[in-house]
Amino acid sequence: MDPDRTSRLAMHLLHGWWIASCPDCGYEFACRRDQEAAERAGLRRRCPVCQPATEETPPTEDVA
Ligand SMILES: [Zn+2]
Repeated sequence: MDPDRTSRLAMHLLHGWWIASCPDCGYEFACRRDQEAAERAGLRRRCPVCQPATEETPPTEDVA
């Protein structure tokens, strides 16, 4: 297993579900039955708390 690959994720196994979350703030990226699936899903996402988007502004439900 490559430690670098998962350094951006904190993986937790909770009640049979793998949860990929931000290692810094705990923001939950993904929740999957399969560890690899959770990893992949988590790696595709960016923490909106630690790394807020600057150029692209995806639609959010934030109420400014
Ligand atoms: Zn974060």
